[in-house]
Amino acid sequence: MGAIRNVCRSGTALAAAWVAAAAAVPTLSSTISPSPPAPRPVMCLFGVPPAKPADEAAPAPAPEQPAPPGSSERADERAAMVERQLARHDRRAPITNKAVLDAMRAVPRHAFVPPNVRSRAYDDTPLPIGHGQTISQPYIVALMTQLLELAPEAKPKVLEIGTGSGYQAAVLAHLTPDVYSIEIIDALARRADGDLQAQGYERVKRRSGDGYHGWAEKGPFDAIIVTCASGHLPPPLWAQLKPGGRIVIPIGGPYEVQRLVLLTKQPDGTRRSRTITSVRFVPMTREPKR
Ligand code: SAH
Repeated sequence: MGAIRNVCRSGTALAAAWVAAAAAVPTLSSTISPSPPAPRPVMCLFGVPPAKPADEAAPAPAPEQPAPPGSSERADERAAMVERQLARHDRRAPITNKAVLDAMRAVPRHAFVPPNVRSRAYDDTPLPIGHGQTISQPYIVALMTQLLELAPEAKPKVLEIGTGSGYQAAVLAHLTPDVYSIEIIDALARRADGDLQAQGYERVKRRSGDGYHGWAEKGPFDAIIVTCASGHLPPPLWAQLKPGGRIVIPIGGPYEVQRLVLLTKQPDGTRRSRTITSVRFVPMTREPKR
């Protein structure tokens, strides 16, 4: 699997890395692995350790996202979804991050999809949300969230491009208080705002417009998740990513099979790219639609 781990310094090299990655045909089970726990620092050898100055103290844990009102409905179906589609599946790499699984168990997916598809909210499938757009299959939502490797205690700042139904943003809100999300279709944005508010997701900050440009005033971000497919990584998104940050994005043409790519910005600013799996997302569009 060495071919899919490439450090790229230019757009051309990056494209070459993607070709190499595609040729390597990565499988989910061999490309997704949880990070090892960080070693505990040694505090002192003798006596009582000196008090740490406030700015060196461990970050306080983020206050939790309150349980949304809809979480009391259809909880059994959500538990079955987490168990059978995410945590255990014979053809997919399991989702192993407990916080991600807990978020998937908590967010009422049925409250974010239109009434005509609500009965199928916990099926293993994407669903139409109107205006030609779709909400991703639960597994893809969980996989992309897990790939961001968010550490809730650090309260990471996360940007989503493509709010759609608001469901992915709600899942992120269980992992960090600092979620930003941009949607280009006004009608969807308004509906997502209403559904997020009704479920108590006030920590999701929303904006309407073309997410290609990112959200420079709120950046830089620890993680960026793009839920529409683009032929290339929008340069403004890379510019708004912190060193050490991660972007997960479907790369490929409209209505083609695309590659879900994880990009990490190294401390020296160089790019590492890894193809995770094949996906099919709606395209990133460039003009505001009204
Ligand atoms: N994350 C969503 C699914 C999104 S579907 C959810 O959880 O429901 C992809 C979304 O990206 C669509 O709503 C589409 O309108 C939006 N989109 C497409 N191009 C965009 C752009 N340039 N900027 C922001 N949003 C965009």
